[in-house]
Amino acid sequence: MNVVEFRRAILAMQGYTPGEQPREGGFVKLNTNENPYPPSPRVIAALQEFLASRSLALYPPPLSDAVRRKASEVYGVPEDWVLIGNGSDELLDLVVRIFVDPGDRVAYPVPTYTYYRVLTLLQGGVPLEIPFPEDFSLPEAFVAAPARLKFLCNPNSPTGTFIPPRDIERLVRGSACPVVVDEAYVDFAPESALPLLKRYENLILVRTLSKSFSLAGLRVGFLFAHPAVIRELLKAKASYNVNILSQVGACAALDDLEYVRENIARIRSTREWFSEKMRALGFFVYPSEANFVMVRKAGVDLRFLYEALKHRKVLVRYFPEWPDALRISIGTEREMELLVHHIAALLEEAHV
Ligand SMILES: *Cc1c(COP(=O)(O)O)cnc(C)c1O
Repeated sequence: MNVVEFRRAILAMQGYTPGEQPREGGFVKLNTNENPYPPSPRVIAALQEFLASRSLALYPPPLSDAVRRKASEVYGVPEDWVLIGNGSDELLDLVVRIFVDPGDRVAYPVPTYTYYRVLTLLQGGVPLEIPFPEDFSLPEAFVAAPARLKFLCNPNSPTGTFIPPRDIERLVRGSACPVVVDEAYVDFAPESALPLLKRYENLILVRTLSKSFSLAGLRVGFLFAHPAVIRELLKAKASYNVNILSQVGACAALDDLEYVRENIARIRSTREWFSEKMRALGFFVYPSEANFVMVRKAGVDLRFLYEALKHRKVLVRYFPEWPDALRISIGTEREMELLVHHIAALLEEAHV
């Protein structure tokens, strides 16, 4: 094997572990924050129409022009401030690749989306992980941290906690580096940091169609930043990063915001109902502004509950590094009623 030599950074790191995607059907999937409702029927119709009348033999528009134009209208940001990605994960990757040299520090508060760590290590960067305080407010040490790049997931995963835009502004002002605010879940929250964009050249916002738009399978994300940043990102981007079906589907999705708003309202209301039920069962529930909640029983390893639920064909997320908590995506009302019923029974059985 002496001709196969890997980069040291690759050998030294662990890859990202995505949530389970079971092969067999019949599972209630509450482990990867997917939307329980189907995407807008207009998305399906647009895809079918494209396949019936157009050819897949041609390359797609490299800049996803039509999606870019729509996103510009919908979010009120000029087109040259917008970049469309193959999911927001691709956009996060591009950002790290244009800003981080080997040895550079990348700061983010933890616990959070573990992909930031993976991207940093891939690039040979050094993660600077700053613990959130108990209440998951903005850590002062994070604002002050000397870094080449900062990430803030808001609402945060896995906690669902939310930092208001005035604190984000303080972070962006106080940071002598680009700050990426990952707003994957912001449609479930009271407000976005988007209005700050024009005033701060070091602010980068990333959003996705995967959660609120029920399109995780389509792989489309948006990045909003100053045109000077977009220009450099384009150098690192693969020419045809977003396939034509994703471009067609994304445009149709952005044409039916009414549909998405209804689903968001339903999910938020189910989230509040479910949080109350969990509190009544003796869990601490982090206040969530996302489409999931983190529930906790201090000092109790909840692996048994995760395993027992899986046995009953309900998947939730268990993080071995945070064993007394579970992250539970918000499903339909029926799915959540079923889950409450299972959890109540299992806790009684286990005398917890
Ligand atoms: C789901 C998620 C993403 C990835 O979204 P895609 O657009 O599907 O790549 C990014 N960041 C966070 C925090 C997420 O939870």
